Amino acid sequence: MEEQPTAGMPALPPPIAILQMIGGYWISRMLYVATELGIADLIDERPRPASELADATGMHPRALYRVLRALAGVGLFTEDEAGNFHLTPIGHTMCRNALDSMRAMILSELEGEHFDAWTNLAQSVKTGEIAFDHKYGQNVWEYYAETPARAAIFNESMTNVSEATNAAVVAAYDFSSIRKLVDIAGGHGSLLAGILSANPHLHGVLFDQPHVVNGSGAKLAHLSDRCEVIGGNMFQEVPSGGDAYLMKWIIHDWDDERSLTILKNCHRAMPENGKLLLVEMIVPPGNEMHFAKLLDINMLVMTGGCERTETEYAELFAQAGFKLTRIVPTAGPTCVIEAVRV
Ligand code: SAH
Repeated sequence: MEEQPTAGMPALPPPIAILQMIGGYWISRMLYVATELGIADLIDERPRPASELADATGMHPRALYRVLRALAGVGLFTEDEAGNFHLTPIGHTMCRNALDSMRAMILSELEGEHFDAWTNLAQSVKTGEIAFDHKYGQNVWEYYAETPARAAIFNESMTNVSEATNAAVVAAYDFSSIRKLVDIAGGHGSLLAGILSANPHLHGVLFDQPHVVNGSGAKLAHLSDRCEVIGGNMFQEVPSGGDAYLMKWIIHDWDDERSLTILKNCHRAMPENGKLLLVEMIVPPGNEMHFAKLLDINMLVMTGGCERTETEYAELFAQAGFKLTRIVPTAGPTCVIEAVRV
């Protein structure tokens, strides 16, 4: 068979390429353990050897050293000649208070309900069902409503991702023709806060489940004169009166039937020519590696949603009474998919 080097990676002998893929799982387990222990925060205070890090965290010095050495090999730390570990820029995202922190994302995705559901991937592949629901006997949103500690980590993880992609969305899309923007299932309001800050003419509504919007105080406090916070259920109705409805990483959570219910509720709530703005990834055609193709499987396993191609979005919109008008790329992996109410 012809050898097919993957873009950006040197061609490896096939068995070695497979070993690297197997190691992907080992790397993510180590990443979880190091993050949970707060290793990056300790190194951020001052570089130090594994023995001191083990002392500070109550771990086995040699075992912790081996994990840090392996993680240094994938670019999270560097070990200097005196044996002190330093953070790289990627390693720095493991810190709790880093501006570009991904700590909560690591803790949410690599353990607990996410990890459990992924161990059940074969069930999803066999039946098309949601692995999480099969394992837990409820859907993930019901689980979070009953498990506040894990819900808090998940909500913070969404804020991590928002912080990482907000600026790109704000910079890429021109909000000047919009007066009132409703962010449906906007979590703690991190994206909405970024958009309102950059667009002083704009009024906003943050809408999410009541127990979620209750945690939104900090992000929107300084914008309270221009922003309303409303709790509710988007499958029943969404707040009316906006001329644009924003949903970031929402439609990908749901199958077509559930997505259509949400889209039709937005349609009902908005005026003629109202805009729909989805912030999502688009699955590109062809064989290249794209994060959307991995996130798609996370959706299969966790929520029953999926990542979609441009054509799939256009078809879904048409069924809910919208016309896809354009796809605005951002500097991140997500796009702003714009549609208009017809
Ligand atoms: N848009 C946010 C959050 C995405 S996570 C961001 O990008 O940061 C998905 C969100 O959907 C969660 O905040 C969850 O609470 C919300 N959600 C799930 N079911 C909902 C429902 N029935 N009504 C309103 N929001 C819901």
